[in-house]
Amino acid sequence: MLIGNYSFTLVFISLCVAILASYTALDLTGRIATARGRAVHFWTAGGALAMGVGVWSMHFIGMLAFKLPIDLGYDIPITALSLLIAVLSCGFALWLVSQPKLPILQLVFGALIMGSGISAMHYTGMAALRMTPGIDYDPTLFASSLLIAVGASAAALWIAFRLRQHSPYVGVIRGGAAVIMGIAIVGMHYTGMAAAQFPEGSFCGATLNGLRGNGLDGLVLITTLAVLSIALLTSILDARLEARTADLAKSLTLANRELTQLALHDTLTGLPNRMLLDDRINQAMKKVEEQGGCFALMFIDLDGFKPVNDAFGHHMGDQLLREVGVRLREDLRSQDTLARIGGDEFVLLVRLTEPNDALGLAARQVGLIAQSFRVAEHDLQISASVGIALYPGNGQSAQELLMNADAAMYHAKGGGKNGYSFFDVSMNSNARKQLQLLQDLRAALEHNQFSLHYQPKFDAANRRPVGAEALLRWQHPTQGMLLPDKFIDLAEKTGLIIAIGDWVLNEACRQMREWYVLGYTDWRIAVNLSALQFCHAGLVQSVAKALATHHLPANSLTLEITETTAMSDADASMTVLQELSDMGVDLSIDDFGTGYSSLMYLKRLPANELKIDRGFVRDLEHDSDDAAIVSAIVALGQALGLRIVAEGVETGVQQDFLTKLGCDSLQGYLLGHPLPAERFMQNIARGETLAAV
Ligand code: C2E
Ligand code: MG
Ligand code: MG
Repeated sequence: MLIGNYSFTLVFISLCVAILASYTALDLTGRIATARGRAVHFWTAGGALAMGVGVWSMHFIGMLAFKLPIDLGYDIPITALSLLIAVLSCGFALWLVSQPKLPILQLVFGALIMGSGISAMHYTGMAALRMTPGIDYDPTLFASSLLIAVGASAAALWIAFRLRQHSPYVGVIRGGAAVIMGIAIVGMHYTGMAAAQFPEGSFCGATLNGLRGNGLDGLVLITTLAVLSIALLTSILDARLEARTADLAKSLTLANRELTQLALHDTLTGLPNRMLLDDRINQAMKKVEEQGGCFALMFIDLDGFKPVNDAFGHHMGDQLLREVGVRLREDLRSQDTLARIGGDEFVLLVRLTEPNDALGLAARQVGLIAQSFRVAEHDLQISASVGIALYPGNGQSAQELLMNADAAMYHAKGGGKNGYSFFDVSMNSNARKQLQLLQDLRAALEHNQFSLHYQPKFDAANRRPVGAEALLRWQHPTQGMLLPDKFIDLAEKTGLIIAIGDWVLNEACRQMREWYVLGYTDWRIAVNLSALQFCHAGLVQSVAKALATHHLPANSLTLEITETTAMSDADASMTVLQELSDMGVDLSIDDFGTGYSSLMYLKRLPANELKIDRGFVRDLEHDSDDAAIVSAIVALGQALGLRIVAEGVETGVQQDFLTKLGCDSLQGYLLGHPLPAERFMQNIARGETLAAV
């Protein structure tokens, strides 16, 4: 019997290689588990190669560590075969642990195959010595080496499977597991080696043309280390990249969520807005169709909100609205939707077990609002009128339901406020008409049914025309010519005013360009803006575009904003007005005297003109109060350096009075009705001829 001995340095190195190979394998399973698509195959193939080379080289270095008193060599084809077996077994193992589940039976089966693979690699590697006579194997030790191989494989597979997900201490745990796995693999190898007995006079056939020599261990070691480090490095870098991508994706999701929140919620109260409400109503309708049941839509309008807003200012008004939102919301279940869809209008969507439940709820909401609110040291008392529409029954679409709830709310308001009303068909005619009108309004732009009439403005002193106000008209297919008071509100409520307003702006500028070319270069065309347009982000751009398209200087255009609009969100309007004013656009405060006229605020507005509301002008002759108010407004305007325009001038007496007071320009039926451009110009021409004579 030949007595062999070991180089302990090489034994130690083989152990290190085994541990490193195990660690790489564990790390790679993590990659495979999180990879998608083709990357899975890439990581499995690369992993099989790296791990196979690692396990095999551990074994090969272990063989090199073994010295016999005779020369040893390794048959190249057989050695290569043992390497191939190692790579294939490792590939199988990686594939197995990257499956979504690893049931016990599969684990046992996998351990058998992998254990056999590693044993096969080992004993094929031994066969590469080509000993004559053959190696004797001690049956007990041989069997134990097989058992260790299978056992170690089972442990390795189970550990790898459990550790493939990223968790806080995964690096440390993997390190520990790699040490255990490494020791198991080495244990198998050296048990197998111990089983081998080399009879006296043995001769190693592979010394003739196989691998041999002193540098072999170093070469194998370096190659292995290179392969393993490349695999490990790639894996770590990829994991970093993946983590970064995950971080990016997370912040993107967050940003998206914020955007959605902004688009679908009211900024003041944080409650859902009109858009989200529509969506929720549609969902609720679908649910009722599928599962039965019913829901109620309650239109809640505050009574007495406007006086609070006017008396205490919009900051208090805003605060009060927030408090109302909170109080209503607190009383609801999480699946109910409370939305704010306009100034002091809230809408509540609640699922009901039976229609009558709406009664109790509405009464409760009314009661909640009737309790006083404490806002900034003030006790404020308001109430609410609630209109209820039920589904199924009171409408076929979200819009119709809302309209009907709105109609019921008006009914409640008419019945003395601070109460609620269920919708009833008798309230319907108006609501239905509105709905029909809305549908027609939607189509009006497309069908070119809008036109502009122009009403002249005259210089009060010399009575010469100084421009015109553009007033919107709708040629309705069945109802004839409609004035703005019939449809502007509706267009505002539904947001259609944005598109319509853009059309008006463009058409007015187009017309003004014609007059400009005719020589009326000092005229100004006045265009009315609604509150919604004024809050819309695109306004400044729309104005700039209309002016540019029609080659008009900015001060050919006057924008009329009602006083209430300009004051309702003072800070926001200030920014928009300032931008428009910086462009050189002329700004006019329309209907002055009817709203909440804060003088402080008026002073800061970059306006150029005040338009005295026609309500004051009308009663000028009979009502001394109105005469006093008008003269005060004129004095105020002059002090602030604003042009003063009086609208609604119908009589000569009014004209004289207003001229004497110092109004700069006048507008009214006495001087000219709103007319289509062509007739408007005929009148102007007639005036010029008269003046010439
Ligand atoms: P406003 O800006 O105060 O326009 C003046 C309104 O008074 C016009 O009514 C005009 O026809 C009327 N009016 C003119 N002179 C007299 C008069 O001597 N006596 C009387 N009783 N009334 C006179 P219209 O055209 O029905 O417009 C009503 C309101 O609709 C306008 O009030 C304006 O706020 C709004 N509006 C008109 N066109 C547009 C538009 O294109 N966009 C927007 N957002 N609102 C518009
Ligand atoms: Mg106006
Ligand atoms: Mg007006």
